[in-house]
Amino acid sequence: MKKGKKLYEGKAKIIYTTQDKDLVIQYFKDDATAFNNQKKSTIEGKGVLNNRISEHILSNLSQIGIKNHLVKRLNMREQVIKLVEIIPIEFIVRNVASGSLTKRLGIEDGTVLKEPLIEYCLKDDKLGDPLIAEDHIYAFEWATKKEIDKVKKMILRINDFMIGMFRGVGINLIDFKLEFGRVKTNGKNEIILADEISPDTCRLWDSKTDKKLDKDRFRKDLGGLIPAYTEVAKRLGILHEQSNISAVNVTKLSSVKKKNR
Ligand code: 5GP
Repeated sequence: MKKGKKLYEGKAKIIYTTQDKDLVIQYFKDDATAFNNQKKSTIEGKGVLNNRISEHILSNLSQIGIKNHLVKRLNMREQVIKLVEIIPIEFIVRNVASGSLTKRLGIEDGTVLKEPLIEYCLKDDKLGDPLIAEDHIYAFEWATKKEIDKVKKMILRINDFMIGMFRGVGINLIDFKLEFGRVKTNGKNEIILADEISPDTCRLWDSKTDKKLDKDRFRKDLGGLIPAYTEVAKRLGILHEQSNISAVNVTKLSSVKKKNR
């Protein structure tokens, strides 16, 4: 698959065209941002781990019938995905209160929610991805009621599956962010899961110790982001137990792969 021109560059990923108009290449960067771009850094190896973890989760979701944009992983940092028209909404799913929910409503961090809570944010960096009501989506025609009903059903299945998958490896799925897009399949529009699912987009706490194994390590200056993401990958069986991926190792692996291309 030949990489064409840059189509879009986001905070953590770059999208390139390919010779197939329906497919693009998604490149995972090492850049980390938080608090609406006010905090920025580069963490060597983060993109490699997110590429692998997201591939693992999206392939598993495919197997339970959740259609998504992943076609295949190409190499350490890139995957071929379907080109979709992204719905400009970030769908936040919460099982345990943390992050912005605790600040906004004064709910204690770690409060277990009786039912999964779905929140909607408008995908707009300039506005700081503001929280919106479901009716805003229809008022401004960001998506139809039929599309959101479909998305909600998919979200609940994805959440059930991911809770179980992480519970099996001693991790509590606290919350996560999903994005969806429209594609035309055989002339018919459908909604599929897009973007990535990784420790950048989820809150993951160790079940025994509550240790944070996600991007909060960067947001809260806790350090040890690469060991935490590596731990998630190891527990999911993506990396072998004995492999000790440090930032240096990951970078070396990336450059070896690049030279071989
Ligand atoms: P919160 O609203 O508490 O900041 O985030 C809730 C969940 O959604 C967290 O798991 C967080 O990682 C994820 N999330 C929300 N917005 C974004 C975003 O713009 N980028 C990323 N990477 N994750 C997000």
